[in-house]
Amino acid sequence: MKALQNDDFKGRKIIKSRVAMLVLGALIITFLTGLIVGKSYAAGEKIMQHDGAIIVQTPTLPNLEEQKDVVEPSIEHSSSNTNINNQNSIENTEVPITHDKVQTEMQTNSEENNLGKVVYLTFDDGPSKLTDQFLDLLKEQDVKATFFMQGDHLKKEYLQASVRRATTEGHYVGGHSMTHEFIKLYNEKQFVPEMNETLALIHEITGTNPNLVRPPYGSAPGLKSEQIRNQIVEADIKVWDWTIDSNDWSLKDNPTQIIENIKSGTKSNKEVVLMHERPQTLLALPGIIKFFKEQGYQFVVYDEANHFDLNFQNDSRL
Ligand SMILES: [Zn+2]
Repeated sequence: MKALQNDDFKGRKIIKSRVAMLVLGALIITFLTGLIVGKSYAAGEKIMQHDGAIIVQTPTLPNLEEQKDVVEPSIEHSSSNTNINNQNSIENTEVPITHDKVQTEMQTNSEENNLGKVVYLTFDDGPSKLTDQFLDLLKEQDVKATFFMQGDHLKKEYLQASVRRATTEGHYVGGHSMTHEFIKLYNEKQFVPEMNETLALIHEITGTNPNLVRPPYGSAPGLKSEQIRNQIVEADIKVWDWTIDSNDWSLKDNPTQIIENIKSGTKSNKEVVLMHERPQTLLALPGIIKFFKEQGYQFVVYDEANHFDLNFQNDSRL
């Protein structure tokens, strides 16, 4: 029995040790599997990390693509938006332009009725090599002005781009004769022929059809002749002198005095300032604009639809 028991015990022991070995083997296998799997996981992580590094790039790429996707549709979107905006802006510009026109008309009417202060800045004798600088300054200050240009300068091709620029930027370009010569214009009565030629030149250059002119040296005494004034009326030309003479042409290197002249000359709610395309005037211009802004004036540009007569001959037909 004992032997049996022993054998039995031995057998059990063997079984036990076999089981233990099996368990151990299983454990080893599990461990190894775990190790391999773990390694592969680790490798996977590494790949993922590595990928992650790519992913860092990849996200950038997809992000780029995403951005592209975002950008592209948004381009389309924005282009459609732009279209909408354009449509809106067209609608907006179309409507408000009329609205603005109405407003301007109302303002012009109310100017006269409610005495709103307005000032017309006018520049004679151009175009010149300074025209662009005047235009730059006016643009910067958001001020529209009225130019009276001279034929023999308008003929200079290198100045014509500035003339076009003046009209496209909302300024008015009127005539100031071809020769600027007193004897020819007034004694020899070439005023209307010269003005017609000048206005035709402006039309040729800019495509506009101006009918306002400023007589060189003013309408007094030049347009004392009723004969010339009749010719002007027949030609459907309008004539403007000024309310304030800045005397800028005579004040070389003295912009301060130009500003002072204008300040002391400002007396009414509607002023038309005579200036010229001169260097000293360019220097004085910021101060002139500042002064009128401080005084509550609105800067206005000549508008044929709202013409008012302004001539030293007091001829209401002009
Ligand atoms: Zn002049």
